[in-house]
Amino acid sequence: MLIVQKYGGTSVGSIERIKAVADRVSNTKKQGNDVVVIVSAMSGETDKLIGLANQISAEPDGREMDLLLSSGERISAALTAIAISELGFKSMSFTGRQTGIITDEAHTKAKIEYISGERIKKAIKKGIIPVIAGFQGVTETSDVTTLGRGGSDLSAVAVAAALKADLCEIYTDVDGVYTTDPNIVPDARKLDKISYDEMLELASLGAKVLQTRSVEFAKKYNVPVVVRSSFNNNPGTLVVKEDKDMEKVVVSGVAYDKNQAKITAIAVHDKPGVAAMLFKAIADANIVVDMIVQNISSDGKSTDISFTVPKTDSRKALKITEEIVSEIGAKEVKLREDIAKISIVGVGMRTHSGVAATMFDTLAKHNINIMMISTSEIKISCIIDVKYTELAVRVLHEAFGLSKNVKTKSKKKL
Ligand code: ADP
Ligand code: ASP
Ligand code: MG
Repeated sequence: MLIVQKYGGTSVGSIERIKAVADRVSNTKKQGNDVVVIVSAMSGETDKLIGLANQISAEPDGREMDLLLSSGERISAALTAIAISELGFKSMSFTGRQTGIITDEAHTKAKIEYISGERIKKAIKKGIIPVIAGFQGVTETSDVTTLGRGGSDLSAVAVAAALKADLCEIYTDVDGVYTTDPNIVPDARKLDKISYDEMLELASLGAKVLQTRSVEFAKKYNVPVVVRSSFNNNPGTLVVKEDKDMEKVVVSGVAYDKNQAKITAIAVHDKPGVAAMLFKAIADANIVVDMIVQNISSDGKSTDISFTVPKTDSRKALKITEEIVSEIGAKEVKLREDIAKISIVGVGMRTHSGVAATMFDTLAKHNINIMMISTSEIKISCIIDVKYTELAVRVLHEAFGLSKNVKTKSKKKL
Protein backbone atom coordinates (compact mmCIF):
# COMPACT_ATOMS: atom_id res chain seq x y z
CA MET A 1 0.00 0.00 0.00
CA LEU A 2 0.99 3.61 -0.49
CA ILE A 3 0.12 5.51 2.67
CA VAL A 4 0.32 9.27 3.15
CA GLN A 5 0.75 10.19 6.82
CA LYS A 6 0.26 13.76 7.97
CA TYR A 7 1.47 14.84 11.40
CA GLY A 8 0.04 18.05 12.90
CA GLY A 9 1.70 20.64 15.13
CA THR A 10 1.45 18.81 18.46
CA SER A 11 2.54 15.55 16.84
CA VAL A 12 5.86 17.19 15.87
CA GLY A 13 5.82 19.64 18.79
CA SER A 14 9.14 18.55 20.33
CA ILE A 15 12.17 16.45 19.51
CA GLU A 16 10.59 13.61 21.53
CA ARG A 17 7.44 13.81 19.43
CA ILE A 18 9.44 13.93 16.19
CA LYS A 19 11.27 10.77 17.26
CA ALA A 20 7.90 9.14 17.99
CA VAL A 21 6.75 10.12 14.47
CA ALA A 22 9.91 8.59 13.00
CA ASP A 23 9.11 5.36 14.91
CA ARG A 24 5.57 5.20 13.55
CA VAL A 25 6.70 5.99 10.00
CA SER A 26 9.42 3.35 10.07
CA ASN A 27 7.01 0.76 11.49
CA THR A 28 4.60 1.48 8.63
CA LYS A 29 7.48 1.06 6.18
CA LYS A 30 8.61 -2.16 7.87
CA GLN A 31 5.14 -3.61 7.33
CA GLY A 32 5.83 -3.42 3.60
CA ASN A 33 4.13 -0.13 2.76
CA ASP A 34 5.45 2.89 0.91
CA VAL A 35 5.08 5.95 3.11
CA VAL A 36 4.99 9.65 2.26
CA VAL A 37 5.06 11.96 5.27
CA ILE A 38 3.63 15.49 5.45
CA VAL A 39 4.40 17.62 8.49
CA SER A 40 3.05 20.81 10.04
CA ALA A 41 5.21 23.33 11.82
CA MET A 42 5.96 22.52 15.47
CA SER A 43 2.95 23.62 17.56
CA GLY A 44 2.83 27.35 18.21
CA GLU A 45 5.47 28.07 15.57
CA THR A 46 3.16 29.60 12.96
CA ASP A 47 1.51 31.85 15.57
CA LYS A 48 4.96 32.88 16.77
CA LEU A 49 6.02 33.85 13.25
CA ILE A 50 2.79 35.83 12.71
CA GLY A 51 3.45 37.56 16.05
CA LEU A 52 6.94 38.57 14.93
CA ALA A 53 5.60 40.14 11.73
CA ASN A 54 2.84 41.91 13.64
CA GLN A 55 5.41 43.54 15.88
CA ILE A 56 6.55 45.34 12.75
CA SER A 57 3.31 45.83 10.83
CA ALA A 58 -0.43 45.47 11.50
CA GLU A 59 -1.01 44.41 7.90
CA PRO A 60 2.18 42.81 6.58
CA ASP A 61 2.41 42.05 2.89
CA GLY A 62 1.05 38.60 1.97
CA ARG A 63 4.03 37.60 -0.15
CA GLU A 64 6.47 38.30 2.66
CA MET A 65 4.22 36.54 5.17
CA ASP A 66 4.20 33.42 3.05
CA LEU A 67 7.97 33.18 2.87
CA LEU A 68 8.08 33.71 6.63
CA LEU A 69 5.34 31.20 7.50
CA SER A 70 6.60 28.47 5.17
CA SER A 71 9.79 28.28 7.22
CA GLY A 72 7.99 26.61 10.18
CA GLU A 73 7.11 23.53 8.12
CA ARG A 74 10.58 23.37 6.55
CA ILE A 75 12.16 23.06 9.99
CA SER A 76 9.93 20.17 11.06
CA ALA A 77 10.28 18.41 7.67
CA ALA A 78 14.07 18.46 7.85
CA LEU A 79 14.11 17.35 11.50
CA THR A 80 11.66 14.51 10.77
CA ALA A 81 13.75 13.29 7.82
CA ILE A 82 16.83 13.35 10.05
CA ALA A 83 14.96 11.37 12.73
CA ILE A 84 13.79 8.73 10.22
CA SER A 85 17.31 8.40 8.75
CA GLU A 86 18.66 7.96 12.26
CA LEU A 87 16.54 4.79 12.54
CA GLY A 88 18.32 3.36 9.51
CA PHE A 89 15.76 4.22 6.82
CA LYS A 90 16.44 6.39 3.79
CA SER A 91 14.56 9.66 4.07
CA MET A 92 14.64 13.08 2.39
CA SER A 93 12.76 16.29 3.13
CA PHE A 94 11.11 18.35 0.40
CA THR A 95 9.64 21.87 0.32
CA GLY A 96 6.39 22.66 -1.46
CA ARG A 97 8.35 23.80 -4.47
CA GLN A 98 10.49 20.66 -4.60
CA THR A 99 7.28 18.63 -4.40
CA GLY A 100 5.91 20.53 -7.38
CA ILE A 101 2.86 21.98 -5.58
CA ILE A 102 1.76 24.81 -7.85
CA THR A 103 -0.81 27.27 -6.51
CA ASP A 104 -2.54 30.47 -7.54
CA GLU A 105 -1.22 33.80 -6.31
CA ALA A 106 -3.64 34.38 -3.41
CA HIS A 107 -0.99 34.81 -0.75
CA THR A 108 -1.76 33.36 2.72
CA LYS A 109 -4.78 31.46 1.33
CA ALA A 110 -3.57 30.07 -1.98
CA LYS A 111 -5.43 27.36 -3.89
CA ILE A 112 -3.57 24.35 -5.28
CA GLU A 113 -3.73 24.26 -9.07
CA TYR A 114 -1.76 21.09 -9.64
CA ILE A 115 0.89 18.84 -8.16
CA SER A 116 3.58 17.29 -10.31
CA GLY A 117 5.11 15.21 -7.51
CA GLU A 118 7.94 14.03 -9.83
CA ARG A 119 10.68 14.08 -7.20
CA ILE A 120 8.42 12.40 -4.68
CA LYS A 121 7.57 9.58 -7.10
CA LYS A 122 11.26 9.08 -7.91
CA ALA A 123 12.15 9.03 -4.22
CA ILE A 124 9.49 6.38 -3.48
CA LYS A 125 10.83 4.21 -6.31
CA LYS A 126 14.28 4.37 -4.76
CA GLY A 127 12.90 3.25 -1.38
CA ILE A 128 13.33 6.72 0.15
CA ILE A 129 10.71 8.02 2.60
CA PRO A 130 9.87 11.57 1.47
CA VAL A 131 8.96 14.08 4.19
CA ILE A 132 7.11 17.02 2.69
CA ALA A 133 6.78 20.43 4.35
CA GLY A 134 3.01 20.97 4.57
CA PHE A 135 1.00 24.18 4.21
CA GLN A 136 2.97 25.52 1.24
CA GLY A 137 3.32 25.69 -2.50
CA VAL A 138 4.71 28.03 -5.12
CA THR A 139 3.18 30.17 -7.85
CA GLU A 140 4.07 29.59 -11.51
CA THR A 141 6.67 32.33 -11.01
CA SER A 142 8.20 30.60 -7.98
CA ASP A 143 6.89 32.85 -5.23
CA VAL A 144 6.24 30.88 -2.05
CA THR A 145 2.57 30.64 -1.02
CA THR A 146 0.74 29.17 1.97
CA LEU A 147 -2.61 27.40 1.91
CA GLY A 148 -4.50 29.04 4.80
CA ARG A 149 -4.41 28.08 8.49
CA GLY A 150 -4.50 24.35 9.05
CA GLY A 151 -3.35 23.95 5.43
CA SER A 152 -1.07 20.97 6.02
CA ASP A 153 -4.20 18.81 5.98
CA LEU A 154 -4.81 20.01 2.44
CA SER A 155 -1.18 19.32 1.47
CA ALA A 156 -1.64 15.76 2.70
CA VAL A 157 -4.93 15.06 0.92
CA ALA A 158 -3.77 16.73 -2.29
CA VAL A 159 -0.50 14.79 -2.33
CA ALA A 160 -2.46 11.58 -1.59
CA ALA A 161 -4.73 12.33 -4.57
CA ALA A 162 -1.80 13.19 -6.86
CA LEU A 163 0.07 10.01 -5.94
CA LYS A 164 -3.13 7.92 -6.00
CA ALA A 165 -2.33 6.77 -2.46
CA ASP A 166 -4.41 3.99 -0.92
CA LEU A 167 -4.92 5.89 2.33
CA CYS A 168 -4.36 9.32 3.82
CA GLU A 169 -3.84 9.23 7.58
CA ILE A 170 -4.16 12.51 9.48
CA TYR A 171 -2.37 12.19 12.82
CA THR A 172 -3.35 14.72 15.47
CA ASP A 173 -3.76 15.15 19.24
CA VAL A 174 -7.24 13.58 19.55
CA ASP A 175 -8.35 10.02 18.72
CA GLY A 176 -10.51 11.02 15.76
CA VAL A 177 -13.51 13.13 14.85
CA TYR A 178 -15.88 13.53 17.81
CA THR A 179 -19.50 14.67 18.11
CA THR A 180 -17.99 17.97 19.23
CA ASP A 181 -14.63 19.30 20.37
CA PRO A 182 -13.59 16.79 23.08
CA ASN A 183 -11.55 19.53 24.73
CA ILE A 184 -14.79 21.40 25.50
CA VAL A 185 -17.18 18.51 26.12
CA PRO A 186 -15.31 15.66 27.81
CA ASP A 187 -18.08 13.13 27.19
CA ALA A 188 -18.18 13.81 23.45
CA ARG A 189 -18.33 10.57 21.49
CA LYS A 190 -15.81 9.47 18.88
CA LEU A 191 -17.36 8.70 15.50
CA ASP A 192 -16.15 5.54 13.76
CA LYS A 193 -17.20 6.93 10.41
CA ILE A 194 -18.36 10.26 9.06
CA SER A 195 -19.47 11.21 5.54
CA TYR A 196 -17.47 13.69 3.47
CA ASP A 197 -20.48 16.03 3.49
CA GLU A 198 -20.93 16.03 7.24
CA MET A 199 -17.20 16.42 7.79
CA LEU A 200 -17.18 19.27 5.28
CA GLU A 201 -19.91 21.07 7.22
CA LEU A 202 -18.27 20.42 10.60
CA ALA A 203 -14.92 21.64 9.30
CA SER A 204 -16.29 24.73 7.61
CA LEU A 205 -18.26 25.51 10.75
CA GLY A 206 -15.13 25.56 12.86
CA ALA A 207 -14.18 21.97 13.87
CA LYS A 208 -10.52 22.50 13.09
CA VAL A 209 -9.66 18.79 13.37
CA LEU A 210 -9.62 18.85 9.54
CA GLN A 211 -9.17 21.92 7.36
CA THR A 212 -12.25 22.55 5.19
CA ARG A 213 -10.51 22.58 1.85
CA SER A 214 -8.80 19.29 2.62
CA VAL A 215 -12.23 17.67 3.01
CA GLU A 216 -13.48 19.23 -0.23
CA PHE A 217 -10.44 17.81 -1.95
CA ALA A 218 -10.87 14.38 -0.37
CA LYS A 219 -14.50 14.28 -1.49
CA LYS A 220 -13.72 15.45 -5.02
CA TYR A 221 -10.95 12.91 -5.57
CA ASN A 222 -12.43 10.22 -3.35
CA VAL A 223 -9.39 10.02 -1.09
CA PRO A 224 -10.02 7.73 1.90
CA VAL A 225 -9.04 9.72 4.99
CA VAL A 226 -8.53 8.46 8.53
CA VAL A 227 -8.16 10.87 11.45
CA ARG A 228 -6.07 9.29 14.24
CA SER A 229 -4.00 10.16 17.26
CA SER A 230 -0.21 10.16 17.06
CA PHE A 231 -0.20 9.50 20.82
CA ASN A 232 -1.76 6.00 20.73
CA ASN A 233 -2.82 3.19 18.38
CA ASN A 234 -6.61 3.64 18.57
CA PRO A 235 -8.38 3.11 15.24
CA GLY A 236 -9.57 6.69 14.56
CA THR A 237 -12.38 8.00 12.37
CA LEU A 238 -12.87 7.09 8.74
CA VAL A 239 -14.05 9.92 6.48
CA VAL A 240 -15.87 8.32 3.56
CA LYS A 241 -18.81 8.53 1.17
CA GLU A 242 -22.24 8.64 2.80
CA ASP A 243 -23.80 5.24 3.45
CA LYS A 244 -27.19 4.01 4.65
CA ASP A 245 -26.33 3.76 8.38
CA MET A 246 -25.40 7.41 8.48
CA GLU A 247 -28.82 8.59 7.36
CA LYS A 248 -30.38 7.42 10.61
CA VAL A 249 -28.51 9.95 12.70
CA VAL A 250 -30.29 13.29 12.78
CA VAL A 251 -27.56 15.40 14.35
CA SER A 252 -24.05 14.01 14.24
CA GLY A 253 -22.09 16.92 15.61
CA VAL A 254 -21.89 20.38 17.14
CA ALA A 255 -19.30 22.88 15.96
CA TYR A 256 -18.25 26.36 17.01
CA ASP A 257 -16.26 29.09 15.37
CA LYS A 258 -14.87 32.07 17.24
CA ASN A 259 -13.06 33.42 14.21
CA GLN A 260 -15.97 35.33 12.74
CA ALA A 261 -16.80 39.03 12.90
CA LYS A 262 -20.08 40.76 12.09
CA ILE A 263 -20.36 43.94 10.05
CA THR A 264 -23.63 45.86 9.92
CA ALA A 265 -24.37 48.63 7.45
CA ILE A 266 -27.22 50.63 8.96
CA ALA A 267 -29.98 52.21 6.90
CA VAL A 268 -28.74 51.45 3.41
CA HIS A 269 -30.97 52.29 0.41
CA ASP A 270 -33.68 49.66 -0.10
CA LYS A 271 -33.35 49.40 -3.86
CA PRO A 272 -31.97 47.00 -6.49
CA GLY A 273 -28.20 46.85 -6.82
CA VAL A 274 -27.18 47.84 -3.30
CA ALA A 275 -26.34 44.33 -2.06
CA ALA A 276 -24.60 43.60 -5.36
CA MET A 277 -22.41 46.69 -5.04
CA LEU A 278 -21.46 45.94 -1.43
CA PHE A 279 -20.69 42.26 -1.85
CA LYS A 280 -18.86 42.76 -5.13
CA ALA A 281 -16.49 45.17 -3.40
CA ILE A 282 -15.94 42.64 -0.60
CA ALA A 283 -15.43 39.75 -3.03
CA ASP A 284 -12.97 41.78 -5.12
CA ALA A 285 -10.79 41.97 -2.01
CA ASN A 286 -10.78 38.16 -1.84
CA ILE A 287 -12.82 38.14 1.37
CA VAL A 288 -15.25 35.30 1.90
CA VAL A 289 -18.62 36.35 3.29
CA ASP A 290 -20.43 33.71 5.29
CA MET A 291 -23.84 34.74 6.67
CA ILE A 292 -25.88 37.62 5.32
CA VAL A 293 -29.03 39.02 6.87
CA GLN A 294 -31.03 41.88 5.38
CA ASN A 295 -33.90 43.24 7.41
CA ILE A 296 -37.24 44.08 5.87
CA SER A 297 -37.39 47.84 5.65
CA SER A 298 -40.15 49.39 7.67
CA ASP A 299 -40.33 52.63 5.71
CA GLY A 300 -39.70 51.13 2.26
CA LYS A 301 -36.63 53.33 1.84
CA SER A 302 -33.85 51.98 3.97
CA THR A 303 -32.79 48.70 5.50
CA ASP A 304 -29.93 47.20 7.55
CA ILE A 305 -27.56 44.62 6.09
CA SER A 306 -25.44 42.47 8.41
CA PHE A 307 -22.86 39.96 7.27
CA THR A 308 -20.05 37.90 8.75
CA VAL A 309 -16.46 37.54 7.56
CA PRO A 310 -13.40 35.80 8.99
CA LYS A 311 -11.94 37.86 11.86
CA THR A 312 -8.63 38.09 10.03
CA ASP A 313 -10.39 40.01 7.24
CA SER A 314 -12.73 42.09 9.43
CA ARG A 315 -10.73 45.34 9.41
CA LYS A 316 -10.30 45.14 5.66
CA ALA A 317 -14.02 44.40 5.16
CA LEU A 318 -14.95 47.29 7.48
CA LYS A 319 -12.74 49.68 5.51
CA ILE A 320 -14.24 48.57 2.19
CA THR A 321 -17.79 48.94 3.50
CA GLU A 322 -16.98 52.38 4.91
CA GLU A 323 -15.52 53.43 1.57
CA ILE A 324 -18.78 52.77 -0.26
CA VAL A 325 -21.06 54.06 2.49
CA SER A 326 -22.19 57.06 0.46
CA GLU A 327 -22.88 54.98 -2.65
CA ILE A 328 -25.10 52.51 -0.78
CA GLY A 329 -26.56 55.28 1.38
CA ALA A 330 -25.62 53.75 4.74
CA LYS A 331 -25.86 55.97 7.82
CA GLU A 332 -23.30 54.04 9.80
CA VAL A 333 -21.16 50.87 9.68
CA LYS A 334 -20.57 48.79 12.79
CA LEU A 335 -18.13 45.97 13.50
CA ARG A 336 -18.60 43.35 16.24
CA GLU A 337 -15.82 40.90 16.92
CA ASP A 338 -17.16 39.37 20.15
CA ILE A 339 -19.36 36.83 18.39
CA ALA A 340 -19.30 33.09 17.79
CA LYS A 341 -21.05 30.81 15.36
CA ILE A 342 -22.60 27.68 16.87
CA SER A 343 -23.77 24.99 14.48
CA ILE A 344 -25.39 21.58 14.49
CA VAL A 345 -24.73 19.20 11.60
CA GLY A 346 -26.32 15.98 10.41
CA VAL A 347 -27.37 14.37 7.13
CA GLY A 348 -30.54 13.11 8.86
CA MET A 349 -31.83 16.69 9.06
CA ARG A 350 -32.87 16.36 5.44
CA THR A 351 -35.78 14.17 6.49
CA HIS A 352 -36.54 15.32 10.03
CA SER A 353 -38.53 18.30 11.21
CA GLY A 354 -38.25 20.08 14.52
CA VAL A 355 -34.47 20.14 14.65
CA ALA A 356 -34.25 23.93 14.37
CA ALA A 357 -36.97 24.36 17.00
CA THR A 358 -35.04 22.16 19.44
CA MET A 359 -31.89 24.16 18.81
CA PHE A 360 -33.54 27.56 19.35
CA ASP A 361 -35.47 26.31 22.38
CA THR A 362 -32.31 24.93 23.99
CA LEU A 363 -30.45 28.22 23.50
CA ALA A 364 -33.45 30.20 24.79
CA LYS A 365 -33.69 28.06 27.94
CA HIS A 366 -30.14 29.10 28.75
CA ASN A 367 -30.83 32.73 27.98
CA ILE A 368 -28.56 32.77 24.95
CA ASN A 369 -29.69 35.34 22.42
CA ILE A 370 -29.49 34.51 18.70
CA MET A 371 -28.23 37.34 16.47
CA MET A 372 -28.25 35.61 13.09
CA ILE A 373 -29.43 32.25 11.76
CA SER A 374 -28.50 30.33 8.64
CA THR A 375 -29.52 26.90 7.50
CA SER A 376 -28.68 24.40 4.79
CA GLU A 377 -29.99 20.91 4.11
CA ILE A 378 -27.71 19.39 6.72
CA LYS A 379 -26.82 22.18 9.16
CA ILE A 380 -28.22 25.01 11.26
CA SER A 381 -25.97 27.83 12.48
CA CYS A 382 -26.60 30.65 14.94
CA ILE A 383 -24.48 33.68 15.73
CA ILE A 384 -24.35 34.33 19.47
CA ASP A 385 -22.30 36.35 21.95
CA VAL A 386 -18.83 34.76 22.19
CA LYS A 387 -19.03 34.50 25.98
CA TYR A 388 -21.71 31.82 25.69
CA THR A 389 -19.77 29.61 23.24
CA GLU A 390 -18.78 26.78 25.59
CA LEU A 391 -22.18 26.79 27.30
CA ALA A 392 -24.01 26.64 23.97
CA VAL A 393 -21.85 23.78 22.69
CA ARG A 394 -22.43 21.80 25.89
CA VAL A 395 -26.20 22.27 26.09
CA LEU A 396 -26.75 21.56 22.38
CA HIS A 397 -24.57 18.47 22.57
CA GLU A 398 -26.77 17.26 25.41
CA ALA A 399 -30.07 18.31 23.85
CA PHE A 400 -29.36 16.25 20.74
CA GLY A 401 -28.28 13.24 22.76
CA LEU A 402 -24.74 13.15 21.50
CA SER A 403 -23.06 12.35 24.79
CA LYS A 404 -21.63 8.87 25.35
CA ASN A 405 -24.39 7.61 27.64
CA VAL A 406 -27.55 9.00 26.12
CA LYS A 407 -27.00 7.95 22.51
CA THR A 408 -29.84 5.46 22.03
CA LYS A 409 -32.38 7.18 24.22
CA SER A 410 -32.24 10.44 22.33
CA LYS A 411 -32.17 8.81 18.91
CA LYS A 412 -35.64 7.46 19.75
CA LYS A 413 -36.80 10.79 21.07
CA LEU A 414 -36.01 12.48 17.79
P1 ADP B 1 -3.20 19.50 14.28
O1 ADP B 1 -2.18 20.43 14.85
O2 ADP B 1 -2.84 18.06 14.47
O3 ADP B 1 -3.55 19.81 12.85
P2 ADP B 1 -5.57 20.84 15.20
O4 ADP B 1 -5.37 21.60 16.48
O5 ADP B 1 -5.58 21.60 13.94
O6 ADP B 1 -4.50 19.68 15.17
O7 ADP B 1 -6.93 19.97 15.30
C1 ADP B 1 -7.17 19.12 16.38
C2 ADP B 1 -8.08 19.80 17.40
O8 ADP B 1 -9.37 19.98 16.81
C3 ADP B 1 -8.37 19.01 18.64
O9 ADP B 1 -7.37 19.17 19.62
C4 ADP B 1 -9.72 19.55 19.09
O10 ADP B 1 -9.60 20.49 20.13
C5 ADP B 1 -10.26 20.26 17.86
N1 ADP B 1 -11.62 19.85 17.48
C6 ADP B 1 -12.66 20.70 17.24
N2 ADP B 1 -13.77 20.02 16.93
C7 ADP B 1 -13.45 18.70 16.96
C8 ADP B 1 -14.20 17.50 16.72
N3 ADP B 1 -15.49 17.52 16.37
N4 ADP B 1 -13.55 16.32 16.85
C9 ADP B 1 -12.25 16.28 17.19
N5 ADP B 1 -11.49 17.37 17.43
C10 ADP B 1 -12.08 18.58 17.32
N1 ASP C 1 1.31 25.47 10.52
C1 ASP C 1 0.11 25.89 9.85
C2 ASP C 1 -0.90 26.45 10.84
O1 ASP C 1 -0.63 26.50 12.02
C3 ASP C 1 -0.50 24.79 9.00
C4 ASP C 1 -0.94 23.56 9.75
O2 ASP C 1 -0.55 23.35 10.90
O3 ASP C 1 -1.69 22.76 9.14
O4 ASP C 1 -1.94 26.88 10.44
MG1 MG D 1 -4.82 21.28 12.01
